[in-house]
Amino acid sequence: MSHVLKTRERLAEVRYEIRGELARRARELEAQGRKLIKLNIGNPGAFGFRAPEHLQRAIADRIHETDPYTHQQGLPAAREALADFHRRRGTPNASPERVFVGNGVSELIDLSLRALLNPGDEVLVPSPDYPLWTAATILNDGCAVHYPCRPEDGFLPDPDVMESLVTPRTRAIVVINPNNPTGAVYPRALLERIVAIAARHRLLLLSDEIYDEVLYDGATFQPLAPLAGDVPCLSFGGLSKVHRACGWRIGWAVLSGDPLAVGDFHHAMDLLGALRLCANVPGQFAIEAALSGNATIHALTAPGGRLYEARRAVVESVAASPYLRMATPGGALYGFPQVVGDAAIAFDDQAFALEMLESEGVLIVPGTSFNLRERDHFRVTLLPEPDVLREVFARVDRVLARRAGA
Ligand code: PLP
Repeated sequence: MSHVLKTRERLAEVRYEIRGELARRARELEAQGRKLIKLNIGNPGAFGFRAPEHLQRAIADRIHETDPYTHQQGLPAAREALADFHRRRGTPNASPERVFVGNGVSELIDLSLRALLNPGDEVLVPSPDYPLWTAATILNDGCAVHYPCRPEDGFLPDPDVMESLVTPRTRAIVVINPNNPTGAVYPRALLERIVAIAARHRLLLLSDEIYDEVLYDGATFQPLAPLAGDVPCLSFGGLSKVHRACGWRIGWAVLSGDPLAVGDFHHAMDLLGALRLCANVPGQFAIEAALSGNATIHALTAPGGRLYEARRAVVESVAASPYLRMATPGGALYGFPQVVGDAAIAFDDQAFALEMLESEGVLIVPGTSFNLRERDHFRVTLLPEPDVLREVFARVDRVLARRAGA
């Protein structure tokens, strides 16, 4: 009998369906010659977006300098630029020493939870969430406790409900703002309430702000760190979305809060950073250019811009559908519609996503993949051309009409 290699048991609890079974089936269909519309990954480069030229040049001009490892927290000039950016934003005590550059926000999410958690510690995570937050909590021996963000509340959480979930084991609150998958942009008053919870219960705030400049129709982004003051806070950002350079694998995390409170955590992050040596060096050369004040994303998110018009296509398609409802996304790169009415009876988002793939050639992500308990949502990215999205929603309606018996 062959030896079966056992894997880590807690992997059984972990899911990342954005690249999971449905995506595998999509590759199979493509290998058979099917032409698909794939809306599963927020991957700008796959939809014809390019990183701004001044960022590309910043790397090309200095590629000959990128051979050595850098400091584990990142290149000094890049960290200086990030500290400066955060100081202007109002992050208290922002300094290069408090900046960690990583191989994408993904790596830093994992490092920060590894630095923080002991077995059985709890982390408050939004539901729905970007599922790496739940997965990384579990794989670092923690327990993700989900706080609900409901469509009828514009996907904003109720701080009283959040606080009711705090136990003596709670260590941190994850905030994703602007939110993936819902597109919610959190108002200042809500963020102040969340800071107050963290202060009362001595929790670390983990603020995933990777979509900080992806905003529509005058939505304003309020960073969390300036409100947090002395409360420990780690604010995440990166090149992947705002700067459309996700393949460069560059993200950052900026630590703020009372130096006495965050000293041990700071050292833990530094040690874990040192164990993985450093972040991708060529990509680090683009950070200064990215923060130089020339954020080209705004041309895409303003009326007439590609992302704005894609979002309009989704909003209008949903409004015209008898089977769908959606809170209009204020930010980020996704639509997250809810199936309603007759089509919602006995609706199963996973079965629906499979049917969309097999019969309509469209790859979407079921809402439960984002740790949403209800089975009535799905996510599409706003990255395709608007006409492609209109066609997608025509196909969604066709499948839902069949299900509703229309
Ligand atoms: N956080 C959120 C909310 C995301 O949507 C993503 C990617 O989609 C990430 C983090 C990871 O980004 P990165 O490419 O920087 O690893």
